[in-house]
Amino acid sequence: MKICKKCIQPDTRPGIFFNQDGICGACIWENTKKNIDWDLREKELKKISEWAQKSTESNYDCVIGVSGGKDSTKQALTARDNLGLRCLLVNSEPEGITEIGSSNIENLKKLGFDVISLRPNPKVTKLLVKRDFFKHLNPVKITEFSLYSSTYIIADKFGIPLIIQGENPGLTLGTSLTGVGTDENAMKANELQTLSSGWEEYLEVQGIEENDLYFFHYDRKNLESRNYKAIWLNYFLKEWSNHNNAIFSKQHGLKWRSDDFDPNSIGTYLPYFQLDGDFTQVNQLLKFIKFGFGQCMDHVCYDIREGRLTREKAIELVKLHDGKCSDEYIEKFCNFIEISKDEFWKTAEKFRGDVWEKTGDGNWRNRIWSMF
Ligand SMILES: [Zn+2]
Repeated sequence: MKICKKCIQPDTRPGIFFNQDGICGACIWENTKKNIDWDLREKELKKISEWAQKSTESNYDCVIGVSGGKDSTKQALTARDNLGLRCLLVNSEPEGITEIGSSNIENLKKLGFDVISLRPNPKVTKLLVKRDFFKHLNPVKITEFSLYSSTYIIADKFGIPLIIQGENPGLTLGTSLTGVGTDENAMKANELQTLSSGWEEYLEVQGIEENDLYFFHYDRKNLESRNYKAIWLNYFLKEWSNHNNAIFSKQHGLKWRSDDFDPNSIGTYLPYFQLDGDFTQVNQLLKFIKFGFGQCMDHVCYDIREGRLTREKAIELVKLHDGKCSDEYIEKFCNFIEISKDEFWKTAEKFRGDVWEKTGDGNWRNRIWSMF
C-alpha cells in the first residue's frame, strides 16, 4: 500500500494510476496542465461546437447532464455563453434529493435553459439501491447509472449530436486504469469505475424486468455508428477545477451549504460538494470502510494540488473529518431501504477492507493514516 508523494491520496482507490516515482495520476495531470497549449485545446473545442451546430438534426446542438451542482452550472454557461451552443439540459433526480439540491436545479433553469427532468420509477430505484447496498456497499451506484445514461438517451432520441460531460475522473482523480483513460472521449462513460460492472446485473434482481431499466443504460454502439460525440469538458478548459467551478457557480446563483454547517455531519470541511442528495454522505462513509478514505481525503488532495493546503494541514483535516457521517443520514437511508441500523453496520463490516488492522484493544487502525 502507498500514498502519493505529492498529495496524500492512497492507492486503495479502484483504478488509480501511480507512476514509478510514487506520484498519483491526479497529480500527474495537475503537472501536465502546465505544459498544455490551452489555446489549441480551446480551438479544438470551438471546432467541435461548430460541427455540432452544423450537423444537428434537432433544435439543440448539445445535451448536458446536470445534477444542479457547481460543475453543471459551469458546463451549461460555458456551452451557451462561450461556445454559442443551443443546450438541452437533462436532470435525473437522485433519490433523497435535498432542499438545496432542488433550489440549485431551479436556479439553473432560471439562468435560461430548457431542462428535461427525469425521475426513474422510485419503486424500481428503491429495489436497486437496496440491492447495490448489499452487493456492492454502494447506495448511489444506480443513481450514477441514470445520471449518465439519461443524457445519452436524450441525445439519441432527440437527434442531438454532442453530449457535454463535466470532468474525466481518469484525469482529476487519477483513475486512468479504468476504461475511461485520460482523453476527451466521454462516449466511454459506461467504462467509469462505478458503471463498469454493467447494467445487466440488475436483471438478476427479483421483480425487475429489462423494461424497468430503460433509463439506466445507453446504446453506445448506436451513438458511435451515427458519429455522435461525447466530450469531457475539463480536457479543454484551463481554468476547470472544483474550487473555481464552485466560485463561478456561486456568482451565478448556486447555493452552497450554510456557513455554520457541521463538517463531521458530512465528512468534509468544504461547503460546495455533493449538495443534491443525502445518500451521497452515507456512501462516503461506506467508501471509508471499504477503502480507508472518504470525501475529506478527496477534497484535501484537490486543495494540496492547487496550492490551498499544505500536506500537514491536509493530514490534520483528514484525521478530523474523514469517514464521518451524521446518524440522521444513516437513519434516513436505513428507513428508505427498510433495514435496521444493526443490519446496516453488520453489512458494512462485511466489506471492511484490508486497509484496516485490529489493534490490541479491539479497535480498527487505518493503515493509510499510519503512513502519514
Ligand atoms: Zn497525488
